Amino acid sequence: MKFAADRTVGRLAQWLRLMGYDTVDSGSLSPESAISFADENRIMLTRDTHLAQRAKSLKIVCLASNDPKDQVREVIKALRLQPNEKQFFTRCKLCNTMLKRVPLEEIVNQAPDHVLEKHSRFSKCHTCKRVYWPGTHYERIQKTLRDLC
Ligand SMILES: [Zn+2]
Repeated sequence: MKFAADRTVGRLAQWLRLMGYDTVDSGSLSPESAISFADENRIMLTRDTHLAQRAKSLKIVCLASNDPKDQVREVIKALRLQPNEKQFFTRCKLCNTMLKRVPLEEIVNQAPDHVLEKHSRFSKCHTCKRVYWPGTHYERIQKTLRDLC
């Protein structure tokens, strides 16, 4: 299942990507972007009730909550999603690109020394060049994702 999140639910997009769901930022819903999202079979996520009414031909989930984590719960419930833990942390939370495992040598200048000493598993986004590793932040997010599911 693929999503397009508009600017009213920007942080929700990051959480869905962390869960491994293909989620693009849609910005505003121009006629052209609406057509392309429909073509790609994306489900539109928004808090904008006017948008939801205007875009009747699209699959759209209109969210009530203002809190990104509650929005994740709403999406899971509305679409009966069954997030797969194996898909967690497979996608860049910033730009939606699939992450690739990279050897330490490749990211040696992109992570602090104490990280390089402690960790051996690294992933990289080849679009925005961000490097990811399973640190304490990662464990906290993983726990949150589990709780949300
Ligand atoms: Zn990226």
